[in-house]
Amino acid sequence: MTDFIIIGGGIIGLLTAYELNRAGAKVTVLERTSIGTESSWAGGGILSPLYPWRYREPVTALAYWSQQRYASFCQMLFSETGIDPEWTQNGLLMLDSDEHAMAIKWAKHHNAHIERLQTSEISACEPQIKPSNSSHAMWMPDIAQVRNPRLLKSLKAYLLSRNVVIKECCEVKELLITHGSIHAVQTIDEKLTASKVIIASGAWSAALLKPLATDLKVNPVRGQMLLFKTPPKLISRIVMHQGHYVIPRRDGHTLVGSTVEHVGFEKETTQQALSVLHKAALHIIPALSNYPIKMHWAGLRPGSPDGIPFIGQHPTIQGLYVNAGHFRNGVVLGPASAHLLADIALGRTPIVSPDPYTL
Ligand SMILES: Cc1cc2nc3c(=O)[nH]c(=O)nc-3n(C[C@H](O)[C@H](O)[C@H](O)COP(=O)(O)OP(=O)(O)OC[C@H]3O[C@@H](n4cnc5c(N)ncnc54)[C@H](O)[C@@H]3O)c2cc1C
Repeated sequence: MTDFIIIGGGIIGLLTAYELNRAGAKVTVLERTSIGTESSWAGGGILSPLYPWRYREPVTALAYWSQQRYASFCQMLFSETGIDPEWTQNGLLMLDSDEHAMAIKWAKHHNAHIERLQTSEISACEPQIKPSNSSHAMWMPDIAQVRNPRLLKSLKAYLLSRNVVIKECCEVKELLITHGSIHAVQTIDEKLTASKVIIASGAWSAALLKPLATDLKVNPVRGQMLLFKTPPKLISRIVMHQGHYVIPRRDGHTLVGSTVEHVGFEKETTQQALSVLHKAALHIIPALSNYPIKMHWAGLRPGSPDGIPFIGQHPTIQGLYVNAGHFRNGVVLGPASAHLLADIALGRTPIVSPDPYTL
């Protein structure tokens, strides 16, 4: 029998499985479709909240904890699995300068590195940027990125090598509870037992709790992205302007994101988003007009109030836990969030206070 069932094989479910397995627990991950094909696949892999000074402290605390560990974690995954998550610290250049004072104050308080650049310095470091975009920019050299689809592949391979059971095409239909304790889950075709169950089902997490009269405030928020095929090093940094970003990958793929749309569980791409993202991309990097769009996709982020995830035990049902609602920051918050959930479930001293994340 397994100790823990984790419902959902996105970044949060997989990282939670990693932490519990590391602590010696027997873990089974149940995934409705295939591992890592929903929001975690769809994202940009930027390892920082965008405009981090706009977020509340509970988001910053998890981001900071994860950021300190991402490089060595990716290195470990690469050497154990041969799949490189491509952790790359190429920094983020933000062409919006109107929040400069707020950003500098935040950076001082959190020991983060933000520099102010003049126009000449912007063109010197990124010649492809349109000079009229901004007279000033903010440069955050410490910000890194991962290639999220590869991180997911690598994590899956690692977990399988460590005897974590992963069942794909295995949708959980119901949580089975007796006398206030969970003891099993009902999937499409079988009943699986465990004394502890963790809901890490991203945007779909609230649906599993509804029959238990628990109103988890996690809702889908669609995000659309474009992918250009460009030569490697067309740009070298992540560049942001007015909420849109351009992310260069090592092999010359360039991502452009993203939209933030409250349209329920609609995952279709739209012509309107394509045109908005294309226009934003060319405004930031005019040279992108010379290259083809290779892909356009959408993902459903697990939205939550203020983007603060729910991490912890269900208030009344013994053995039931939630790790969901990471909104725009699941990749960067994931390692800390998974560690905190494991701390709570295993009765260890938590890495940060669990209070802001309680259900
Ligand atoms: C366009 C876009 C850009 C983004 N950019 C970034 C970024 O740059 N940096 C960053 O940190 N974050 C980013 N994010 C956010 C990040 O991707 C999410 O916060 C994160 O992926 C959430 O992970 P998750 O595991 O909770 O959800 P998901 O990846 O959606 O995984 C949940 C899984 O649960 C499964 N599931 C659901 N219901 C059931 C069930 N009943 N039974 C079994 N399985 C079930 C689903 O099939 C799914 O695979 C972005 C997101 C999008 C969409």
